[in-house]
Amino acid sequence: MGLVFDLHLHTRRHSACSAIDESLLIDRAVRKGLDGLVLTEHHYQWTREEMDELVDTSGHPGFILLAGFEYSSSKGDILIYGLDPEQVAAFEPGRPPEVMLAKAQEMGAVCVAAHPTRAAIPFDERILDMPFEALEVKSVNLAPHEQRLAKKLADDLGRRVTTSSDAHRLEDVGAYATEFLNPVQSMEDLRNSLRHGTFRPYSVAGQG
Ligand SMILES: [Zn+2]
Ligand SMILES: [Zn+2]
Repeated sequence: MGLVFDLHLHTRRHSACSAIDESLLIDRAVRKGLDGLVLTEHHYQWTREEMDELVDTSGHPGFILLAGFEYSSSKGDILIYGLDPEQVAAFEPGRPPEVMLAKAQEMGAVCVAAHPTRAAIPFDERILDMPFEALEVKSVNLAPHEQRLAKKLADDLGRRVTTSSDAHRLEDVGAYATEFLNPVQSMEDLRNSLRHGTFRPYSVAGQG
């Protein structure tokens, strides 16, 4: 068995929309059977120092805590992994998704389309030509029919899929997760894994 990560969630420290107390996060993740988390705040990326402090005070010293960020384009949200925290400032909200995807990938990031079929904030037909490394096809913010649509879209486009919680409440952390078949320990490992497809949706007990 590989390492199980939740790749998409928000804490109240850096996302005003989230109720998650970051000090409780890692313990909750461990109880859900996760090996790691990737924090993806809206337009903010946790620094390594912040994350080290959270792990150090969690009581779970081996826990793998990484960070990307979630970019809100003019049409759809993009999970961006592998940039430095100070590079986030170059991603002004509300720009065209295809432009910002290309920019992030040129800077060395890997990108996942967040809840691509969510009725409230979908991508439009431009997603057909956007070279995401993967599409997120399940989260607590995708209704069952939206999950089916997202999976069909990914299949039609030949894109790999991730499943993650997009948690904004502690009880949702790990509701969905992704399993990596190689030993991911760093953002570099995660980026390579997402590029090369060494991952698959992970079925968390009690979830579809
Ligand atoms: Zn949010
Ligand atoms: Zn999100």
